[in-house]
Amino acid sequence: MDILKLQQLDAAHHLHPFNDNAALAKKGTRILSRGEGVYVWDSAGNKLLDAFAGLWCVNIGYGRKELGAAAAKQMTELAYYNSFFGCTTEPTVKLAAKIAELTPADLNHAFFSNSGSEANDTILRLVRHFWKVQDQPQKNIVIGRYNGYHGSTVAGASLGGMKGMHAQGGLPIPDIHHIEPPFWFLDGGDQSPEDYGLVAARRLESKILELGPNRVAAFIGEPIMGAIGVYIPPMTYWPEIERICRKYDVLLIADEVICGFGRTGEWFGSQYFGFTPDIMTIAKGLTSGYIPMGASLFNDRIAKVLAEQGGELAHGYTYSGHPVCAAVALENIRILQEEHIVDQARTNTGPYLQERWLALGAHPLVGESRIVGMVGALELVPNKPARKSFAERGKVGVICRDFALQLGLILRATNDSMLLSPPLTISRSEIDELIEKIWKSLDLTARELGLATPGV
Ligand SMILES: *Cc1c(COP(=O)(O)O)cnc(C)c1O
Repeated sequence: MDILKLQQLDAAHHLHPFNDNAALAKKGTRILSRGEGVYVWDSAGNKLLDAFAGLWCVNIGYGRKELGAAAAKQMTELAYYNSFFGCTTEPTVKLAAKIAELTPADLNHAFFSNSGSEANDTILRLVRHFWKVQDQPQKNIVIGRYNGYHGSTVAGASLGGMKGMHAQGGLPIPDIHHIEPPFWFLDGGDQSPEDYGLVAARRLESKILELGPNRVAAFIGEPIMGAIGVYIPPMTYWPEIERICRKYDVLLIADEVICGFGRTGEWFGSQYFGFTPDIMTIAKGLTSGYIPMGASLFNDRIAKVLAEQGGELAHGYTYSGHPVCAAVALENIRILQEEHIVDQARTNTGPYLQERWLALGAHPLVGESRIVGMVGALELVPNKPARKSFAERGKVGVICRDFALQLGLILRATNDSMLLSPPLTISRSEIDELIEKIWKSLDLTARELGLATPGV
């Protein structure tokens, strides 16, 4: 079908997530048709380097035929069976065991879903149930962070702290509270990042004391806050959060949907930051986005209480532990392990990307260049030394993003943060191409804003 016809049908019949659908209908959708490694092609034939791995998810890169083969094999043998009524399938069990082996500490129990949002919905329900069956039904509040992202379902968007999302649909639901996120660049003032990390973490303690420790069930956070702009907390932040959670017996939930499966150079972001969650959310990198799947992981303590005191678990999705998804996830993990892809991100191409990314901090538009493993951001600012954002946030980020696209590079912008999250398989020469195109985009943006540029 020709592109114009597809765009017309799309405008007439397809509501796009996180889009101004009226504006998009006028502009016309970009239709992607093929992917290989770190590149995708649109139906107009443009080759684009995808510096965002789809939506933070294509960790092993595009076009891996093994995943298609694993799906086809499982579909042929047994396309579907559920895990209700005392049943399950072999790939589902193997995947649960594999995840228990990969995750730190005693996160040994997986409840499967189809997405990160659903996994967080599951967590909200089971956390409240966990306290209720221990005669603490009032311990039902979950604390998240403003500008955190935990998905788009009712519970996911409530746990998240995006005000624009809360405004649509009457959220958050009751008994969810938020504290300010840790973002030293705009919020740290004169404090060192290390001191600020402690100050930001202690907002949790103040909130727990304000609400009453007997009311607070859990705290949820992304190890690195992705969607809002890759906010990388100081190294002091998470150990202090963990200390506070332990002190008040508040369950610690790490939403590892972005950080999990190698993004930080470790298998999980909590390992990078040195803390141990009681509960973990995974999705995205679990299947490298080849098929939808998420999971909520619980430690031994929680699983034991739920098993011994919880009664029948009144919760489940038709596709919980879908055998085709599980087979694809297992194949994805096999490739991540056998090709040492996570190790590469830690010790080889990761450090190279970090070195080159940090050097972009020299550009006059860049107030801060930040990166861990293969996830990072550039903070575009009007005045380099001042650590202040543009008066009207988001305009400059979009200009830069659009220049990048013209140069054949997919970059995402949130406010004026340019976000980086390429497939973990990106090579050195592809990193060189990426950096060169970003520098050019920054130059073109600076010129558009009437700022002097040092040239490429
Ligand atoms: C993407 C994301 C989610 C939601 O996952 P979906 O699969 O889109 O429902 C949850 N948490 C974090 C941190 C995410 O980045």
